[in-house]
Amino acid sequence: MTPHASGQRGLPETAPDPLPIDVVDNHVHLDITREGDEPFDVADAIKAARAVGVTRLVQVGCDLDGIRFTMDAIEAHDELVGGIALHPNEVPRLAAAGRLDEAYAEVERCAVHDRIRVIGETGLDYFRTGPEGVAVQQDGFRWHIDLAKRLGKALQIHDRDAHADVLRILEEEGAPEHTVLHCFSGDLTMARECVERGYYLSFAGTVTFKNARGLRDALTAIPLDRVLVETDAPYLAPAPHRGATNASFLVPVTIRAMAAVLNIDVPALCRAVSDNSERVYGPWGAERNGQSA
Ligand SMILES: [Zn+2]
Repeated sequence: MTPHASGQRGLPETAPDPLPIDVVDNHVHLDITREGDEPFDVADAIKAARAVGVTRLVQVGCDLDGIRFTMDAIEAHDELVGGIALHPNEVPRLAAAGRLDEAYAEVERCAVHDRIRVIGETGLDYFRTGPEGVAVQQDGFRWHIDLAKRLGKALQIHDRDAHADVLRILEEEGAPEHTVLHCFSGDLTMARECVERGYYLSFAGTVTFKNARGLRDALTAIPLDRVLVETDAPYLAPAPHRGATNASFLVPVTIRAMAAVLNIDVPALCRAVSDNSERVYGPWGAERNGQSA
């Protein structure tokens, strides 16, 4: 059995059935090729996604190379809007190299672009970065929150093993109007807290994993107008493709699993995800004029 759902990413061997209503992949890294994978063509990846009803994508670049890629990609493809930031694991590295200030300056320069709609992913990662990096990581998170508010962009948060500090710092700084917990990994209590504060929760393929009962409980406990869906591709492919290279054309697998958990029909979830995404990020050019890049 091949470990890849798609052989070459963006060119599915077996794609899921198309969704009845077009949706948004809220978080994808088209700039990242997983180790051992063939490089893939971005236009092919977008085309494969469109073919199953994933017509709009948020491309996220979270290191300097990824940011440069994102700026080019949003110009080249109407299906994309962009998110940029320095990842919480990237901030301590840049700080150690004495390059953090110039990197911030580049983020800020790029972030004013009309089709950069997101500052993210930013946040805290206590899994990859040890205690020595916590202070600089928290400063970095605060810097990105402030930037999102100054520019009126949405905020996408990466939170790995840092739930309490993420919530505390958002409270201390004051969260931007549109704040998204990307690849939500909290429990029911945290989900409720986020909803109370007005945040959105974006669910990835992890919600389909056998051991993710807590995540499914969280999903059922939040209002439909706060639910988003994402791949985080090339990572976190949904079951039954777990461990394979993920891609936006697999969003329908996650959507159908979520609809089953919520006990609602698939079109209702698609419409909610689409509406919520446009409320958070604004409209996409691709939908506006109904053409593909
Ligand atoms: Zn990501």
